Amino acid sequence: NLTIGVLELQGDFAEHTAMLRRCGAGKVTGVRETHHLQHIDALVIPGGESTVISKLLVDLKLMQPIQKLVAENALPVFGTCAGCILLAAQIKQRNEQARIGVLDVVVDRNAYGSQIHSFEVHLRSNRLPFIDAPPLRAVHIRAPAIVHVGERVDVLATFNHTPVLVRQGNILACTFHPELTEDTRIHKLFLEMVAQHKR
Ligand code: GLN
Repeated sequence: NLTIGVLELQGDFAEHTAMLRRCGAGKVTGVRETHHLQHIDALVIPGGESTVISKLLVDLKLMQPIQKLVAENALPVFGTCAGCILLAAQIKQRNEQARIGVLDVVVDRNAYGSQIHSFEVHLRSNRLPFIDAPPLRAVHIRAPAIVHVGERVDVLATFNHTPVLVRQGNILACTFHPELTEDTRIHKLFLEMVAQHKR
C-alpha cells in the first residue's frame, strides 16, 4: 500500500489531498517537517506561490533532503504550477530563486501575462490516448510556460505547441491545476508511476 505525501507549506495542497483520496491513493499525508519524508513513497508539490514555497523549503530544511531523495530516484515527485517551477532546473526570471531543480526544463514564470490570470484549455497529446476522450480541461492560473525541455524530458501533453505536462523518469510536472477539476486522470497517471516505481 502506498503513502503519498503532499507538501503542506503554502498553496492548494488541500485540493491535492482531496483529489488523491478520490483516486483511492492508499494513505495521503502532509509533509511539513523533515521527518515526514521518512514514511512517504512519493511527494506532490502543489500550486501556489513558488517564491514563498521556496523560502519555506529552505527555512524548514526540507529543500536539501527532497533534492537528494529525488536525485537518487528514491522519491517520485509530482509538481503542479508553482510545483513545476520548483522542480525546474532553470527559471527565465530570478534564476537565483532556490528550488529543487531536478527537472531538465526552463520555465518562464507568469508567462501568460497579468491580464490573463486564469484560463482553461483542452490538452493535446500524442502520448497519452486517455487525455482526448473526453478532452482534458487544463486550468491555468498565473501559470508558467515550459519554454525549453532537455533531452531526457518526455513531453506528454501540449497546448498551442507548448509543453504543459512533462515527465522525466519518476518526475512528473504540469503547468496547470489538475487538482481543481473533478478529473482524476492526471493524478491517476502519477499514482501509476509511483506504483511501478515501488514494484
Ligand atoms: N505564478 C505562481 C508562481 O510564480 C504560480 C501560480 C500557481 O501555482 N497557480 O509561483
